[in-house]
Amino acid sequence: MKKLVVLSGAGMSAESGIPTFRGMGGLWEKYDVTELASPEGWAKDSALVQRFYNERRKTVLESKPNAGHYGLAELEKHFDVEIVTQNIDDLHERAGSTKILHLHGEIRKSRSTINPKLIYDIDGWELKMGDKCEEGSQLRPHIVWFGESVPELENAVKIVAKTDFLVVIGTSLQVYPAASLIDYAPSYARKFLIDPGEVIVEPDIEIIQKGAGEGVQILKEKLLSL
Ligand code: NAD
Repeated sequence: MKKLVVLSGAGMSAESGIPTFRGMGGLWEKYDVTELASPEGWAKDSALVQRFYNERRKTVLESKPNAGHYGLAELEKHFDVEIVTQNIDDLHERAGSTKILHLHGEIRKSRSTINPKLIYDIDGWELKMGDKCEEGSQLRPHIVWFGESVPELENAVKIVAKTDFLVVIGTSLQVYPAASLIDYAPSYARKFLIDPGEVIVEPDIEIIQKGAGEGVQILKEKLLSL
């Protein structure tokens, strides 16, 4: 089976009702999201950061995978699919994809603030100030914040470096180091990009300028006719 690697970003889940990074509106418009999603933000006002992620977690729990997520899960019948996602939601998992690497963490999990190896599932939507790990330190969302290292990056590079097909979906390719991953694809790999917006990329990427649901369907037809 040929290997197909998907790099997915916030746009992948837009049709499920989860706002993209630039689409976060309402209450949070008065805060700078990059400040909330940072160690400095946590040091300044941990309760506010918890509230921000509790709201995001609620939205994730209320949403369902879209046709794009399901389409990628179906591609496993034809390809050895691995998904490297910047998304912190679990919609790829719920759609049935089996090999998923979360580059930026998972919102339905918490992590100890002193021992990063201690990671727990969160029951429901709320992580509270005062919720502690087994070593007695406050739990924080299991998210890679701006300015923090990306521990899964090396594994992601290894996955991308061996692929026959690379499919980029719903990412503005602005957040590094995730954006640099496409550079690690082998020269023989065929590359596709699915995004309804204008994303500037190198010329060897075939662009499908559609939303994730329709775009994955078009991709599937193209791949199966090769
Ligand atoms: P981004 O917000 O910078 O870019 C989103 C991209 O999605 C844009 O290029 C936009 O044109 C495209 N898009 C919009 N609607 C789409 C659709 N229906 N189908 C396909 N594409 C669509 O997001 P990013 O590049 O992923 O970077 C933002 C960071 O914030 C990442 O770390 C990301 O993980 C995180 N984030 C995650 C979620 C989530 O987990 N669902 C949501 C918001 C932000």
